[in-house]
Amino acid sequence: MNHKIRFVDPGKNYRMIRAEIDAAYKEVMEKGDLIMRGQLKRFEERLAAFVGTKFAIGLNSGYDALHISLIIAGVKAGDEVIVPAHTFLATASAVVNVGGKPVLVDVAGDYNIDVNRIEEKVTPRTKAIIPVHLNGRPADMERIMAIAEKYKLVVVEDACQSLGAKFQGKRVGSFGLTGCWSFYPFKILGGYGDGGAITTDDAAVARAASLLRYNGEDRDTGEYHYHGFTCLLDNLQAAFLDVKLAHLPEWIERRRAIAARYNAGLSCVPQVILPHFVDPRVEEVFQNYVIRTPFRDALFDYLAAAGVETLIHWRKPYYMHKELAMDGQRFPETEAISRGVISLPMNVEIADDEVDYVIQSIRSFFEGDER
Ligand SMILES: *Cc1c(COP(=O)(O)O)cnc(C)c1O
Repeated sequence: MNHKIRFVDPGKNYRMIRAEIDAAYKEVMEKGDLIMRGQLKRFEERLAAFVGTKFAIGLNSGYDALHISLIIAGVKAGDEVIVPAHTFLATASAVVNVGGKPVLVDVAGDYNIDVNRIEEKVTPRTKAIIPVHLNGRPADMERIMAIAEKYKLVVVEDACQSLGAKFQGKRVGSFGLTGCWSFYPFKILGGYGDGGAITTDDAAVARAASLLRYNGEDRDTGEYHYHGFTCLLDNLQAAFLDVKLAHLPEWIERRRAIAARYNAGLSCVPQVILPHFVDPRVEEVFQNYVIRTPFRDALFDYLAAAGVETLIHWRKPYYMHKELAMDGQRFPETEAISRGVISLPMNVEIADDEVDYVIQSIRSFFEGDER
């Protein structure tokens, strides 16, 4: 369908910063800087400064950031890693692909891991925990770090949806052994293709990640230290991401303004739960604006017919996909969420009158006779 209002509009975003992106492209092409050059280094330095860590290592994807973090954390066959039941599959796949067992914990009403249910899942085999900061909202890092300390667990933060968000004044991605980032085009800092990174304060972790991403080789000595991978952040993408990172603070403000506009425009609709969860410790960035309603499927169709593109994260929880052969446990809150959630257009390209059109369309739907 050709939507009037798109979920994100990368072409429109490009036109907003065209001169800077074109200049970055020209610099890379003219210099022939293709693999692991100055543009990547510069972006890594700025990303680390932004997150508030000593190091950032650019990778090919958010998945790679999780996978490499778990390798460095020493997660091996038979180890258990705690992950939320409501997240993107990649969080759990990284655990499986190092031979570990993902141990799922249900989420709370704010879509993040329910910190009151973590300790009952800790066993002598538990090695790590991966809190996910979903939709741009930080998980409760105060409780999670305390639990990790008590049971000596490694914390790997899946911060793929929360670049810029803060918990108790500190940026997410700077609490754990690593913070894992994705620059997939739909993410808050999106490239023109895949991309990712790890942030860390630990020099040994940073070195291991920079060797693992490039075939395990120390390029200065020619010595191989690992059976590694080829998963560097592409130099051209790094140049583009560096341009966009400079805009991120103003773009986060814009996202917050859009969220406030949705909140104000939809608070009169009783059939809808808005993403408005009061916690003074938390500063959100609204990667997604997710509402919940028992009329979700009809609303999705109605908005599509009105030309509004929405997404559903996710219709079926990952652990219920048969071919993945997970252990058959069920998670009531995750399943209720999967039946009720719908993500509204949220991006810095959208204009206020377009946001108002989305609001008006939702109101008309609920004012109709069918409800
Ligand atoms: C996007 C995302 C990932 C994976 O990122 P890719 O770059 O697509 O590999 C992992 N976890 C969460 C929560 C994400 O949203």
